Amino acid sequence: MRHPFVDYLEGLLGSLEHVTEGDVARYIPILAEADPSLSAVAVATTSGRVHTAGDADAEFSIQSVSKPFTYAGALEDRGVELVDEYVALNPSGEAFNELSLEADSHRPDNAMINAGAIAVHQLLVGPGATPAERTERAVSLMSTLAGRRLRVDERTFESEMANADRNLALGHMLRSHGILQDRAEDVVAGYIAQCSVMVNVRDLAVMGATLASGGIHPLTGDRVLSSLVCRQVLSVMSSAGMYDAAGQWMAHVGIPAKSGVSGAVLGALPGQVGIGTYSPRLDPFGNSVRGVEMCRIMSEDLDLHIMEAD
Ligand code: GLU
Repeated sequence: MRHPFVDYLEGLLGSLEHVTEGDVARYIPILAEADPSLSAVAVATTSGRVHTAGDADAEFSIQSVSKPFTYAGALEDRGVELVDEYVALNPSGEAFNELSLEADSHRPDNAMINAGAIAVHQLLVGPGATPAERTERAVSLMSTLAGRRLRVDERTFESEMANADRNLALGHMLRSHGILQDRAEDVVAGYIAQCSVMVNVRDLAVMGATLASGGIHPLTGDRVLSSLVCRQVLSVMSSAGMYDAAGQWMAHVGIPAKSGVSGAVLGALPGQVGIGTYSPRLDPFGNSVRGVEMCRIMSEDLDLHIMEAD
């Protein structure tokens, strides 16, 4: 028998069918090919129950939703203190791909903007790691968290690599300040590969539930991240995960989250649930229009706002 919560999720998607505002991302050509009518949601509890609705099998590139996970990987591989020396912890108040660094330290403001994520990619594994080793670390960590082997989509990778001037500029700027040690081209290619990993909403919900449970995988019970690392990742997601709408998201939805230009949103509510949503039409901030609405309504209906006292 179908779980009543699946009926709730189906109803939620149905209630948003009329919402057709926004547009798919176009600056990476392959993202413009996305079917704008797709809509999916998944919720995974920290105790391992997973419910999905809508186009739950639809795969899409993870894009910026990879950033919390490579950040978690770098924090695990190099330690919190070292990573903090390279990437700061503050909201930037600027566009996600802005060419700017902190005034005195020349660090990127945080790991959720592109400059920070490129710096984080360099930190994966350890000094002397090859580009292939760093990319494999990113893909295998995300695979472990999703509970299945994920793959880099070559077409997505090539499409973004052919339009990577902005990220290459960021890479060169970071290297000029000693934040990158390797060739900027290699680090940016690795970052773009991590963004080209294909996922579905179920993957996102399970990955989010692992962060929400302080690093214990909800399906296997294995510890895959330390609780300190999860705390730091969720803290940065809270203040900088939803582009320049992070503040209004926190007030209206109240769930640490990260969105990406493919139309994905990942939420992680400590001790409770991971959420994955997908709908490719984006608002002017770059967040999925329906995804934001799905999360806002679930937050209200299910009392998920982290600042709510009871
Ligand atoms: N790969 C994309 C970029 O670097 C990710 C952007 C995003 O999802 O915010 O431009």
